[in-house]
Amino acid sequence: MTYNKKSVEDIDVAGKKVLVRCDFNVPVKDGVITDDKRIVGAMKTIQYLVAQGAKVILCSHMGRPHNVLDAELKLDKKEKKKIEALPAEEQEAAKAAALEKGKKDITKLSLKIVADDLAKKGIPVTLAADVIGPDAQAKAAALKEGEVLLLENVRFHAAEEKNDPEFAKALASLAEIYVNDAFGTAHRAHGSTAGVADYLPAVCGYLIQKEIDVMGKALDDPQRPFVAILGGAKVSDKIGVINNLIEKVDTLIIGGGMAYTFFRAMGCSTGTSLCEEDKLDLARELLAKARAKGVNFLLPVDNIIAREYKEDATFMRIYSDSIPDGWMGLDIGEKTQELYSKSIAGAGTVVWNGPMGVSEWENFASGTKAVAKAVADSGAISIIGGGDSAAAVEQLGYADKMTHISTGGGASLEFLEGLELPGIACLLDK
Ligand code: AMP
Repeated sequence: MTYNKKSVEDIDVAGKKVLVRCDFNVPVKDGVITDDKRIVGAMKTIQYLVAQGAKVILCSHMGRPHNVLDAELKLDKKEKKKIEALPAEEQEAAKAAALEKGKKDITKLSLKIVADDLAKKGIPVTLAADVIGPDAQAKAAALKEGEVLLLENVRFHAAEEKNDPEFAKALASLAEIYVNDAFGTAHRAHGSTAGVADYLPAVCGYLIQKEIDVMGKALDDPQRPFVAILGGAKVSDKIGVINNLIEKVDTLIIGGGMAYTFFRAMGCSTGTSLCEEDKLDLARELLAKARAKGVNFLLPVDNIIAREYKEDATFMRIYSDSIPDGWMGLDIGEKTQELYSKSIAGAGTVVWNGPMGVSEWENFASGTKAVAKAVADSGAISIIGGGDSAAAVEQLGYADKMTHISTGGGASLEFLEGLELPGIACLLDK
């Protein structure tokens, strides 16, 4: 999928009310933002708009709140199911308690914490008490050039995730131009990520522009050899990505739990390793496709194995791709690390998504660390999908050495799959 979308620089924003969808879904612990990367990432677009004299209206979601700004507070499906499983006499009290908890979201998942953080970063922001309600409308109407307003959490309305046209229209009515800069939610067709573009001229911000430029170029016209590294738990989560990348890469490196489904498909024993029995045929198909396309398909040649899926499980290295009965593979071994690192060292472009083992646990993190180092040292154009691989790269201090660390895990996977992202497709073409 190639996108050539208009950006904030391609539209006259001076004096206009500009609605910007940001990704302010930051992690918060005990009332403190523990990682402000997403806020920092949004600043370039905001600062540009302020400098241009736009009247800036920011919006975002945070977490998974209840629909606290709707006339009637509803419980989500999961909560409803839980309550329905209780004895009849306990259901009323449980429902009341759940609704009470929902009301607390107003403070717990308010974007006030983001407004305060932006102010600390030199962008003074007024917070609206609602999203499309009277406070947002009044504050948006009163905005002066260069001022910034932040709307409340868009997911306080159930209509946001339903992409309800009335909600999108009401949101759009606050502004004259829409800017999407939330790559992390660009694969979702929600009111504030896509629906609103039906009513306003829509362009991308700098963050989305960089995501589509770097990843689009890698997929369409990569510097070769093009090496993709895919890891993580399941083949089933990455089928689309593997399928699409096989068409484009020179080498496909597989690690993590998904390697064992490929091994089983090839007739190797995998012990108690993660294995998706219902995906064996598919794994065979993918192997055959790689062979037919001349793709160098690399699987681990040695493994770190343990008897239990536990952080402190006793482990050992086996110099084999076969896992003994009663053991499970939890990381790639040293020989594999060397083999993979060599292949990465010669790459022109590297795309990496998913850890090589259970990287959350120190004893099974060395494969992921080795791959992170190899990518950092490679000098290749390096693109890191979000999630665990991005976290590993950041923790190890390699972030500056990567060409691009995607700000969206799910969105970057769908991009690599070649799928259309609704939050980008809805923007104006150049
Ligand atoms: P994903 O979200 O698909 O990228 O998967 C990431 C998860 O895969 C992490 O939580 C890892 O702990 C897990 N994982 C990676 N390798 C293995 C493995 N060999 N066995 C079990 N889980 C694994």
